[in-house]
Amino acid sequence: MSGIKLSIIGAGSAIFSLRLVGDLCKTKGLSGSSVSLMDVDEKRLNSVHHLAKRYADLVGTNLRFEKTTDMKRSIEDADFVINTALIGGHGQLDASRKAGEMHGYARGIDSQEFNMVSDYYTLSNYNQLKHFLEIAHSMEEICPNARLLQAANPVFEGTTLISRYSDLKVIGFCHGHYGVETVAKSLGLDIKKVNWQVAGFNHNIWLTHFLYKDKDAYPLLDQWIEEEARKWKPKDPFDDQMSPAAIDMYKFYGRMPIGDSVRNGSWKYHYHLEAKKKWYGEPWGGADSDLGWAWYQNSLKASTDKSFKLDADKSINLLQEFPPEVMSGEQHIQFIDALINGNQERFVLNIPNKGPIIPGIPEDVVVEVPVIVDQKGIHPEEINPPLPKRIMDMYLTPRRLRMEWALEAFVSGDKRILQEILIRDPRTKSFEQAEAVIEEILALPFNKEMKKHYMSFPRKQKRP
Ligand code: NAD
Repeated sequence: MSGIKLSIIGAGSAIFSLRLVGDLCKTKGLSGSSVSLMDVDEKRLNSVHHLAKRYADLVGTNLRFEKTTDMKRSIEDADFVINTALIGGHGQLDASRKAGEMHGYARGIDSQEFNMVSDYYTLSNYNQLKHFLEIAHSMEEICPNARLLQAANPVFEGTTLISRYSDLKVIGFCHGHYGVETVAKSLGLDIKKVNWQVAGFNHNIWLTHFLYKDKDAYPLLDQWIEEEARKWKPKDPFDDQMSPAAIDMYKFYGRMPIGDSVRNGSWKYHYHLEAKKKWYGEPWGGADSDLGWAWYQNSLKASTDKSFKLDADKSINLLQEFPPEVMSGEQHIQFIDALINGNQERFVLNIPNKGPIIPGIPEDVVVEVPVIVDQKGIHPEEINPPLPKRIMDMYLTPRRLRMEWALEAFVSGDKRILQEILIRDPRTKSFEQAEAVIEEILALPFNKEMKKHYMSFPRKQKRP
């Protein structure tokens, strides 16, 4: 194999890009590949381009790198495109959140039941969803056989949208399932002897089966809850896998929520800061509180500053920062290797529910499930035992409907759908409040196109 062409859109997310480049350097079967780094921020792009080249030289691989601010150029001849761009950056998410808070929606209108993650915007994120379709439609034209690996959020809404409105093969990627390792570690189990399966939607996955040395390990979790849970304290705002919220969700639904699913419970855990602290621990109250999110934004800034520093200071040993013998933990490059070179591997991916993989969910909805990947393609595992009825009826179905409502609002441009979603939000006290907050968000300077889209309904326009 003489290598592939990989295009990374939003490559200025330097640490993420370097992790991918590092993995590519370590994957012999992909030697000779070329990587096109694409970002609209030239400063970030130049920095990550220098670093990627420097790292590949140090490791001694023959990867080729190009950089460009032009998405269409980047995807020319691509075999794989990874999208990790965030349109408008965190500044625009903050501005939308503030607009929501001015009208009584703490944490913004996009914080909704079963989706409280603070950069997973589904209602006010018109620009991001539109960008997803722009990439997909450009790929259909320029590199129709390439696969789109979607890392940018919202992965659930985004991959479902793209798979419905394009002919592309789109796959969503997330880290959430690594939460299984935290559960195993907390119980003192050797993860290599744990046989596990998760299923659901992105940020909404559940540990369907959990065996240790071939025996049901849920009783070990029950024992941990009995003896240890009360001593639990978070190390950082994202350390919530064994939090009281996770345990409470497990007790109610009968299976353990995994990864970011713990952040995505009902309002019970999110009414206010005191509730968040009770369920996600002191002092932050989890990642999706004002305190927790400020912590995250500081660490993101530190990570961007660090990448500029790594670029500026040539005396820093990049091999120490990104050890060549250790894979990053991101699944993307191993996924490509499995598909291209047949190095069969198990992943947890977001793919359309064809089959269906999860009975009871429409086949045109993207689900997050374990799969085996090889040269013949992606082979989903049978979900066994099935997801409990309570999870299906009280968690996944309402979450799926929220996805459908958000996509229908985006596709149709019918503002009344946004209003209707807010009418069902416990923070809404009057219809006027719901109307006013939407007008406030549409008036934000970066939402000019969104405003036009929602102001021109009803219209005769073809859907995307
Ligand atoms: P960030 O703002 O630090 O980086 C995003 C990059 O996108 C920036 O370099 C920016 O210049 C670039 N960008 C903006 N507009 C662009 C455009 N039109 N074309 C190309 N690039 C453009 O954001 P981040 O914190 O790195 O998050 C990026 C995305 O990844 C978010 O959607 C976030 O929610 C998501 N995310 C996903 C996972 C996962 O596991 N799937 C994990 C973390 C973050």
